[in-house]
Amino acid sequence: MTTASTVETTATAADAPAELTDGYHLVVDALKLNDVETIYGLVGIPITDLARLAQASGIRYIGFRHESDAGHAAAAAGFLTKRPGVCLTVSAPGFLNGLVALANATTNCFPMVQISGSSERHIVDLKRGDYEEMDQLAAAQPFTKAAYRVSRAEDIGLGIARALRTAASGRPGGVYLDIPAAVLGEVLDAAAGAATLRRVVDLAPRQLPAPEAVDRAIELLANAQRPLVVLGKGAAYSQADEQIREFIESTGLPFQPMSMAKGLLPDDHPQSVATTRSLALKNADVVMLVGARLNWLLGHGEAPQWNPDAKFIQVDIEPTELDSNQPIAAPLIGDVGSVLEALLERTKPGQITAPASWREQLAARSAQNIAKMAKRMAVEHHPMRFDGALRAVRDVLAERPDVYVVNEGANALDTARNVIGMSVPRHRLDSGTWGVMGIGLGYAIAATVESGAPVVAIEGDSAFGFSGMELETICRYQLPIVVVILNNGGVYRGDDVNSVSSDPSPTTLMLHARHDRLIEAFGGKGYQATTPTELTTALTEALASGGPALIDCVIDPTDGTESGHITHLNPAGITVGAQSTATK
Ligand code: ADP
Repeated sequence: MTTASTVETTATAADAPAELTDGYHLVVDALKLNDVETIYGLVGIPITDLARLAQASGIRYIGFRHESDAGHAAAAAGFLTKRPGVCLTVSAPGFLNGLVALANATTNCFPMVQISGSSERHIVDLKRGDYEEMDQLAAAQPFTKAAYRVSRAEDIGLGIARALRTAASGRPGGVYLDIPAAVLGEVLDAAAGAATLRRVVDLAPRQLPAPEAVDRAIELLANAQRPLVVLGKGAAYSQADEQIREFIESTGLPFQPMSMAKGLLPDDHPQSVATTRSLALKNADVVMLVGARLNWLLGHGEAPQWNPDAKFIQVDIEPTELDSNQPIAAPLIGDVGSVLEALLERTKPGQITAPASWREQLAARSAQNIAKMAKRMAVEHHPMRFDGALRAVRDVLAERPDVYVVNEGANALDTARNVIGMSVPRHRLDSGTWGVMGIGLGYAIAATVESGAPVVAIEGDSAFGFSGMELETICRYQLPIVVVILNNGGVYRGDDVNSVSSDPSPTTLMLHARHDRLIEAFGGKGYQATTPTELTTALTEALASGGPALIDCVIDPTDGTESGHITHLNPAGITVGAQSTATK
C-alpha cells in the first residue's frame, strides 16, 4: 500500500505518528488491488498526480494527445483482455472527449472504465462558474452502461470495485466513475483508508444456460436442412476459442464470421462461408447467432437479405437482446463458453450435421466467388488502387499471423475486411458496431501495449486524420506499429469537384499529402509507396524493424465509392445541382 505521509496528529507526545493517506493514493491502491496493470489517459487538473502516482506504484501509464484516443485504447484493451480497460481524463472538456470512446465501448460491448476528475460539487451544482464546470455524472448517464460518483474518499474502494464489476459482468460495457478533485485531495488515516478497499471476486462469473434451452436449440439444428452459424465479436470476446472450434468442426456446420470474429477459425477454413455470405444468409433455414446481434450489420435479419422463413437460435449473455429484431425460436442465455460446452455435452454423436446438398451449394458458389476475386486482385492498375495495395499487405501479413490488424475507413475498411485473411482469434480490431472513424491509432496502441505484438493499422486517409496526432505517442513509446494509409485524397474518394466556388468540395482532402513526413517529425520511419511492389518492400522492412513506421500509399483518387458498402444508408434526395437550382 502507498501512504501519503506520516504526521503528528495528536497532542500527546507518547502517541506514535499516524500514517495518512489521501484520495489519490486510495485510487491507485484500489486499482492495483484489482490487478489493473495499465491506464490510458491524458493528464491535467486534477488528475496529474494520479498518473504520476500510478506510474510510481508500478501501473503502466500511457499518455495520449487526445482523450478520445486514450479512451479507444482502453476500450480495445477491454476487448482483448476481457478485463475493463481504464481511461483517465480531466474535468469537463477532457471528460467529454473521452466520453465518445466510452459510448463507443458500450455500443460494442467492450468493458471499459473512464475515471475522470471533476470540479467542486458545491460550485458546480449551484452553477457558480467553476474551472471546467460540468455535471459530468449527469452527462455520462445516457451514454454508458452505468455512471457512478464517489463523494467521500472512504468510498473510493467501493466506487472502483463497482465500476470494474459493472463494466465486465453480464453484457460488457462502458462505466463512468466521477471523482471530484476535493475527494482526491481528502486526507484520512491510512489504516482506515486501506480497510475501505475491496478486491472484486470473479469479475465476470460464468452464466450457464438451462438444459431445456440447450435441447431446444439442438432439436432445431438437428432438423435443419440449411443450417448456418454466425460468429460475432461477442464470441471472440468470450475467449471460448476451443469450444467454438470443437462445436463447428464436430458438427460440420457452415459459419459466417463477423469482421471482429475473423480468426476464431481461420478465414480459409473449409466451413467458412465468408466468400459466399449472401447465398448463405438468403437460404439458411436455421441460423445460430453466437455473440452477434441482428442489427444493421446483419440487415436486421430481414428479407431479402435473409430467408424470411429462417428460424433463429441466439447465444447471448444479454436477455434483452433477444427478439429485438427477429423472433428468437431458441434463446440460449449465457456466456459463449458455457453455452457451447453445454451444446457439446448434450448433442448426441451425429445428431447435428450440415446436409451434403447445402455444403455443396455453398462450396460451388464460394469457388466461383474466390476465382472472381482472384482475377480482380491480379489486375495491375497505374496509379495503384485499393485492390493492388491490399493484395501487397495481404501477402506480407500472410507470413505474419502474429501481427494485429486495425482497420478503419470507408473503402479502406470494406476492401481490407474482405481481402486480409485472419487466422488467429482477436487479432482484428475495426470500426465496429457504430462504423465509427477515429479508433485507429488508439486501438493500435492498446493492441501492442496489451500483447507486445506488432500492429499494422490499415487506414483510409480521412479516417487517419481523426487520431493522427497519436503518431507522436507511438514514437514516444517506441511502439511496433506500422500505419498504412490508403491515400486517395478524399473522404471516400479524391476526385470530387465543387462546381460553385473555388473551395474544395466537402469530400476533398489534399491529394498529394505526404503523411509519411508526419511520422518523420517524431523520429519514426516514413515511406511513400506508389506500387504494390514498393508497398511490399516498405511493409516488410517496417515490420522487421520493430519500430514505429508509416507508409503513405498513393491510391488512384478515382478509386472508391461514396460511403463504401453502405451507400444505401444515405437518404435519397434531390441532387446537389437540382437543390441549388431549387433554392435560387
Ligand atoms: P458483431 O458486430 O460482431 O455481429 P455484436 O457486437 O453485434 O457482434 O454482438 C456481440 C454480442 O455478444 C452482444 O449482444 C453481447 O451481449 C454478446 N456478448 C458479449 N460477451 C459475451 C459473452 N461472453 N457471452 C455471450 N455473449 C456475449
